[in-house]
Amino acid sequence: MTQSPAALAPGSTIGILGGGQLGRMLALAAARLGLKCHIYCPDPDSPAFEVTQHKTVAAYDDVAALTAFAAAVDVVTYEFENVPAATAEVLAGLKPLRPGANALAISQDRLAEKAFLASKNIPVAPYRAVHSLEDLHAAVAEIGLPAVLKTTRLGYDGKGQRVLREPDDADAAFGELKPHPLVLEGFVPFEKEISVVVARGLDGAVRTFDAAENVHRNHILHTSTVPADIPPGVDKHAQMLAKVIVVALDYVGVLGVEFFVVAGERPSLVVNEIAPRVHNSGHWTEAVCLTDQFEQHIRAIAGWPLGDPRRMADVVMQNLIGDEVDRVPMELDGDSQPHLYGKAEARPGRKMGHVNTIVRG
Ligand code: AMP
Repeated sequence: MTQSPAALAPGSTIGILGGGQLGRMLALAAARLGLKCHIYCPDPDSPAFEVTQHKTVAAYDDVAALTAFAAAVDVVTYEFENVPAATAEVLAGLKPLRPGANALAISQDRLAEKAFLASKNIPVAPYRAVHSLEDLHAAVAEIGLPAVLKTTRLGYDGKGQRVLREPDDADAAFGELKPHPLVLEGFVPFEKEISVVVARGLDGAVRTFDAAENVHRNHILHTSTVPADIPPGVDKHAQMLAKVIVVALDYVGVLGVEFFVVAGERPSLVVNEIAPRVHNSGHWTEAVCLTDQFEQHIRAIAGWPLGDPRRMADVVMQNLIGDEVDRVPMELDGDSQPHLYGKAEARPGRKMGHVNTIVRG
């Protein structure tokens, strides 16, 4: 393997902000490549701590702890997009931060994200910024109903949003959602939801995984099925749009792009959101790709050549939420690959693990 001069040598240490299951799976992938991981997370019970001996338990605004962390690692990455801007700034001043702070700033703010995507001619739902009730009424008049009112920051898994069906819904939703500003989006009459996980290396190489078709239950991802039941041209188009996004961001690492598929003579795509990290809808890659999304991210941020993302079988990933995890191990069959996150308490709605199942034709 030829390595660029910027490539981390085996034995180097990757710093990961965030100690959830994504950090845990990144650390496992890094270990297989002979790279160490140092996890930084305020929660002492973080699942990622169990798979690495290097850890910092401290707040994200603890500058002394961040400085010591930076000194102990060769590159810094993150497993969640809500890394505070000040934290990213401190770390980026001390060690390479990959993906860069621009990807965090854009994906943390739905308005910035939509403006960025629209500026690159990536299709997004019609939207308006909402700073006041007057703004909201004007936006409803322009965009029409139904529409979706969302917080611009810290929304996930359907939290921080309300669907407006009648003009009378507007005032209550505006009062309920905080903090302002909000964003009003036109309701996209989608047929299905798909996502693409894309990677860009330090050398600028870009590789995409096939699109996954995603089904949510109670606003949480339930299954990702690959291949998605869409025309191959739509899958390729989604992958092309994902590539445009990582190139435009000068991105290094793995990024998830969520799309709505709108039915038509030729189905069209609308980007819902981007996530500057490995993505739940990319967990299927563990079972059926030579290089999965976790290894791909580690390769990218380590300055290693990207691996081969080609899919070798059809697959369904199912999340294990709350006590669904109790099905493992007894309900596994020979085509299933389980992955449990080692979380002690199976609270309702909590992602406890997932199972990838090969679909034999
Ligand atoms: P989000 O938090 O933006 O990922 O949205 C969560 C879910 O709400 C999405 O997966 C969609 O099912 C639905 N949703 C969000 N925005 C829209 C929209 N503009 N039109 C239709 N459905 C939406």
